Amino acid sequence: MPKLLDTALQLDKSDLLKHYREQFHIPKDEEGKAKIYFCGNSLGLQPKKVTQYLQESLHKWQSQGVEGHFEEPAPWLTYHILLKASLAHITGAHEHEVVAMNNLTTNLHLMMVSFYRPSGQRYKIMLEAGAFPSDQYAVESQLRFRGYDPEDAIIEVQPKPGEETLHMDDIIARMHEHKEEIALVLFPGVQYYTGQYIDIQKITEAAHEIGAKAGFDLAHTVGNIPLQLHDWNVDFAVWCSYKYLNSGPGSNGGVFVHEHYASDTTLTRFAGWWGHDEKERFQMKKGFRPMYGADGWQLSNVNILSASVQRFALEMIAQAGMENLRKKSIQLTDFLESCIQELDPEGQQIKIITPSNPEERGCQLSMFVLRGGKHLFQKLTEASIVVDWREPNVIRVAPNPLYNTFEEVYRFYEILKSTLHAY
Ligand SMILES: *Cc1c(COP(=O)(O)O)cnc(C)c1O
Repeated sequence: MPKLLDTALQLDKSDLLKHYREQFHIPKDEEGKAKIYFCGNSLGLQPKKVTQYLQESLHKWQSQGVEGHFEEPAPWLTYHILLKASLAHITGAHEHEVVAMNNLTTNLHLMMVSFYRPSGQRYKIMLEAGAFPSDQYAVESQLRFRGYDPEDAIIEVQPKPGEETLHMDDIIARMHEHKEEIALVLFPGVQYYTGQYIDIQKITEAAHEIGAKAGFDLAHTVGNIPLQLHDWNVDFAVWCSYKYLNSGPGSNGGVFVHEHYASDTTLTRFAGWWGHDEKERFQMKKGFRPMYGADGWQLSNVNILSASVQRFALEMIAQAGMENLRKKSIQLTDFLESCIQELDPEGQQIKIITPSNPEERGCQLSMFVLRGGKHLFQKLTEASIVVDWREPNVIRVAPNPLYNTFEEVYRFYEILKSTLHAY
């Protein structure tokens, strides 16, 4: 037996999370064989049991109509509260600091309304160069809305020439260069393109040192890397739930707002009835009085059908435990890295642009393909491997510790090997 395969089988045998795989629907090829799905960074797979919570909600609607808002179990009026315990576990927050609502970009706008508070010289926003387009558009439009020119008001941090990823020292140096001008620092945890994890705690400390707020887009971070948003003093964070949180396409996103702001009524915010003090929400009175904590940023009643799916998906992650998931994730990704390196030790065709230090990445590896990238991607697709392609030349591969196996990584290696040899 090839040595790598033997290693893979041993690792699968001792994997404490292996029973989770059978709790997911794994997409199949035309012959009914499970595909190798390494695309949970884009859309997480469906846990089989989500149908149970979803059906409960559908049934409640069938049998109770509007009374479903109030009838036990799981009345819709307070349904968002059922998601808090697992969200708090996943983000390292107190329950009152997190809430599931809207979608990521909407939440980013709402958070910027409150936490981007330009005044005098201090009106600039720091971002990583090549930020996800939706984040760029959100920032540009917020700046224009406040009367600033994005060209002038956005400070982008670039990798060093010839490099793909950022250095913490460079980020901090740029912050200090502009220390009187920056109002908000907005970073991802895990960068969607390179897979680099940028230390949230260090960024937050540095931002606060220069008097700026620190916000994070955790689309690729929640459910991927254990977080301590409360202890790290993060001002706000936003995320979507359909990637590592396996909550279904377009499902409710979420926000974290630090306890410091739980009853801060001086912050500007765009308000809606669901953020209003619940004791008098239905008195339909004038004058907005926010709920305590993150709940005070809600606009609307939560999408119950999405939240039903999400409720189960989040509970599953919390039950597996972020620390356990991370442990397996590091092993899986290390194994993937060693397989790719064994194939192409000199990096002549595939250059992994994700940092090789496990502390600086989640489960995704981004392979920069030097020759024939799109063709290689098509070959992998034909071989029933689901990965994704990002222009100009990157294949992102993200084995997920909840449902992927070491053997699948080995099979990926075999197929990659036969494909590379075709050149
Ligand atoms: C996936 C992703 C989004 C998606 O935004 P939606 O508002 O949920 O459509 C935004 N930002 C980043 C960095 C992402 O990776």
